[in-house]
Amino acid sequence: MPLKLSYKISPINDTIFRISLPLPGYPPYINVYLFKGEVNTLFDTGIFWTWRLLRRALHDLGLQFSDIHQVIPSHGHVDHYGAAYAIAKRNKHVEVITHIADAKRIEEGLYNKPSIMLKFIESMGVPKPLIVPLAFLDLTFKSMGHPVIVTRKITDDQCSLQVGNYNATLILTPGHSKGAMCLYIEKEGFLFSGDHIVPGVKPIILAGFEPNTSFPVAQSHTIFHTSLKKIEKLSPNHIFPAHGEPFQEKLNRLIVKYQKVYQFRKKRMYNLLLNNDYTVYGLARQVFKNLKGINLVLDLYLSLSETYTHLEAMCEEGDVIKYNFDNTYYYTATLL
Ligand SMILES: [Zn+2]
Repeated sequence: MPLKLSYKISPINDTIFRISLPLPGYPPYINVYLFKGEVNTLFDTGIFWTWRLLRRALHDLGLQFSDIHQVIPSHGHVDHYGAAYAIAKRNKHVEVITHIADAKRIEEGLYNKPSIMLKFIESMGVPKPLIVPLAFLDLTFKSMGHPVIVTRKITDDQCSLQVGNYNATLILTPGHSKGAMCLYIEKEGFLFSGDHIVPGVKPIILAGFEPNTSFPVAQSHTIFHTSLKKIEKLSPNHIFPAHGEPFQEKLNRLIVKYQKVYQFRKKRMYNLLLNNDYTVYGLARQVFKNLKGINLVLDLYLSLSETYTHLEAMCEEGDVIKYNFDNTYYYTATLL
């Protein structure tokens, strides 16, 4: 996929800047936030492939990699920590800060082994010609990041630290990934939401699968919704997501919207399962009918992830049962 090699700088105020860096496929770009001042800080970094663009953008803002005091990947996905290594390599003093729950995947570039991924994809009922491209996509994700040593691992659910000229709070909001964090600046009412809150999409869809030694693990919708509740009491006047444009919306309204979409989609899947047993792939093709074109493989990966996480939640709740037949998992609705 061609990567448009440009970046965009959008000032938020005199010392906070949004640097949008390209991503291949979807979402099309990631927002890296720079807090300039006493403690020059980057919240997220973009992928390793675009570290030179990040360096140029910082240069436009009067900074070098050597001026950066701390890099905080919001969580352990490649587009958020991928370029941290490029900075750490050129700046021995930079602090790389992340929550301990995601530190391992940042330090080891932890991804599922291809053999495990192939087995897992097969178990979802994916037709043979699509299995290899999907497993290859997982490897491509891996190449977009470069492992980096995390110098400070946060163990608390919440911690205060200085970013730029501000006192900020890092809040653990697991769901999209285990160690996902939001950054809140109370004084300005700014919430930097990473992938926990993204406009237009329910962020769990971008979650993919947590690596595991035997089989990848689905992200938990239950944990995600608990994390939404956790930040509901904050009343930010602006939300700055890692993907998409900053927006203003009352958090409680947004959370209600997320819950509606989640319940609606579960109901829809349940109704389909009442008429037929489905594999993850079979159900994903029913629910997401418009998958085609250049992004087919990536769209398929995301829709499989979304369908799988819903099915696992429904199994937990007892509405759906999963059974194994010929190395493939099928799901069936239990009658209420
Ligand atoms: Zn992510």
